[in-house]
Amino acid sequence: MCTGRTPRALDAILDGAAMKGGLTLWRSRRGIWYALLSATMDVPVAEASGGWVGVDRGQNHLAVASTPTGRPRFWTFGVVRQARRHDAAKRRRLQKAGKRKTITRLGHKEARLVRHVNHVISKQVVRFAVDHGCGIRLEELRGIRQTARQRADTKRQADQNRDYWSYVDLETKIVYKAALVGVPVEKAPAAYTSKSCCRCGAIGQRERHRFRCPRCGYRGHADHNASRNVGRWIGVACPVVRERGASVMGASVPPGAVYDSPQAPYATDPVRGTA
Ligand SMILES: [Zn+2]
Repeated sequence: MCTGRTPRALDAILDGAAMKGGLTLWRSRRGIWYALLSATMDVPVAEASGGWVGVDRGQNHLAVASTPTGRPRFWTFGVVRQARRHDAAKRRRLQKAGKRKTITRLGHKEARLVRHVNHVISKQVVRFAVDHGCGIRLEELRGIRQTARQRADTKRQADQNRDYWSYVDLETKIVYKAALVGVPVEKAPAAYTSKSCCRCGAIGQRERHRFRCPRCGYRGHADHNASRNVGRWIGVACPVVRERGASVMGASVPPGAVYDSPQAPYATDPVRGTA
């Protein structure tokens, strides 16, 4: 792509940091020729991380990241929402006029916007992790649309419906940008990250964008709370969540323990005692 400056991959090849791969010429449908150059380069070994920045796909925000100390960073849908609303109205007009080709083009334009914003956000997420000397923990995306239900009326409004957002694309971009600078990336199961308290692990109440814990009294932004849970996930809760039915049915759970919570080990930790 001609951007007026040398692309990073090309710089790396010229510096001898990367090995050049194949070169392909490709002509776009508009008749513009592109030279696609692939490069192979060594990336820094991802160091074991002291802490983790948790990145959550927010209910109200596009994404929320937070450091182990709880410092958050929010990414809103902002301009994207405005563009969506505008395009939805345009699409309705085109549909009436039967202009199918133009509708397809509009779809491509939207997909490009999503990819562009994902580039920007993924870069900032990686930067955020580097600045705080942390690795990145993402929530597991499999089955997300089945678990994170949206209200039907929210879904009908083009600018409010979150399903169009490609989180898989965002994840892919975060993973490769992190690899380039040697930041480790992990995945945490998404279940219960938004329902549990990030302080004590109890299942709390969520009202719109606020989260409230009935046990320790913690109150905070719901998406922020969820991203802290993703960052603090310690890996033990996963099988508990998967075998939820069985563990709830069994009576072998110590008193004070909280079922199905990513933070459950905290609550029952014999060293720290129950909260
Ligand atoms: Zn709590």
